[in-house]
Amino acid sequence: MQLPKTGRNWAELKSEMTERGAGDAKWRDGKTAVYVFNAGPEVEQVQKEAYTAFMSENGLGPAAFPSLAQMEKEVVSMALGLLHGPEGATGAMTSGGTDSITMAIKTARDFARSKGQAGPANIVLPQSAHLAFDKAAHLMDVEVRRVPLKTGGSFEADPSAMAATLDENTIMMVGSAPNFPHGIIDPIEALSDVAVARDVWLHVDACVGGFLAPFARMNGVPVPAFDFELPGVRSMSADLHKYGYAAKGASTVLFRSEELYAYMPFDLAGWSGAPMKTPTLAGTRPGGAISAAWAVMNHLGVEGYRRLQGKVCAAREQVEAGVRERGFEVLGTPVLGLIAFRHPDLHPFAIYAELYKRGWFTSVTKEPRSLHLMLSPKHADMIDDYLRDLDAACEAVRAANGAQAETVQPRYS
Ligand SMILES: *Cc1c(COP(=O)(O)O)cnc(C)c1O
Repeated sequence: MQLPKTGRNWAELKSEMTERGAGDAKWRDGKTAVYVFNAGPEVEQVQKEAYTAFMSENGLGPAAFPSLAQMEKEVVSMALGLLHGPEGATGAMTSGGTDSITMAIKTARDFARSKGQAGPANIVLPQSAHLAFDKAAHLMDVEVRRVPLKTGGSFEADPSAMAATLDENTIMMVGSAPNFPHGIIDPIEALSDVAVARDVWLHVDACVGGFLAPFARMNGVPVPAFDFELPGVRSMSADLHKYGYAAKGASTVLFRSEELYAYMPFDLAGWSGAPMKTPTLAGTRPGGAISAAWAVMNHLGVEGYRRLQGKVCAAREQVEAGVRERGFEVLGTPVLGLIAFRHPDLHPFAIYAELYKRGWFTSVTKEPRSLHLMLSPKHADMIDDYLRDLDAACEAVRAANGAQAETVQPRYS
């Protein structure tokens, strides 16, 4: 497509865009369990109006837009309050989990260098950790050491195997709360013990759990300790645009102290332009992502989040019970909003494809091959429908006698 020579009127463009969207996943109907966190139309409206209110403002300019600087500060402070940030803990908003993780690694690396680490740096991850770590490590030429999970089907990181993988050039070890593929919270307390004993930086990736786990715990869910209350945890990533229900482009990267945080911002005297100290990867930062996160957090409050997260956990429990009844095995013991499960006889990717035909846009896990759901509050009303379609999908796969199993691959891009 070429840029049109003359512009087109907005009304016409708007209707064309609506038409183009018609072929997309119908997430508002509650049959999408990946990519979108659906807290309902009221939260969507708050996101949208709060985003557009500061859409043109730029988080790069705190002096020009003290409103945004203050909102960011308050968002970070609310996040630290939920995650047991000690006195002096601090952080920043970023554009998303990948950005938060990248900045945490950069900070840990520069901290390690300041302490004399000079060899080729490495990070030690459980096999289930998000690939954002590999992407960031690739950018920074850091070696990634992925360590197999514990044996026995808990799908948890293995702290002693990770400890055995550390060396003097390890700048960070990682635990997830929870991991994305299985939805399982790693044994962060044991990882924290290793981190303290070996004086290694522990990062907890709570991208998908950071704004769910604290409220699940308040609701009585047995969530193990996973945040700054454990002394070895030096940094965390927690995404606002996941279970924080903020507009997309919003995450937090958090540090135990100002001393550690100080290694994150980038500053450079040697260029022709004005001084421009940036805390995160971005230069220009969309004001709307900050204002929408601030507004949604204040709109929901503890009570609102507890109500929504209660629905998420209830939906997961209903899925869990329903799939077990149908002969599926649930991977590990999920306690939050992610769940993966597999059938002893039926190929999960074939079931996935049959569910897709029935309007479900969901996900899969590769190790081991399983169906994967990332549940939203909206799904609390949808699980009976899902299980009915799961029955039909299983029936169709049985009827095809596994004929399609190896050829059907979920498509994401
Ligand atoms: C989503 C996610 C990320 C990456 O976050 P983005 O916002 O997609 O960049 C990292 N870790 C975990 C566990 C996640 O679920």
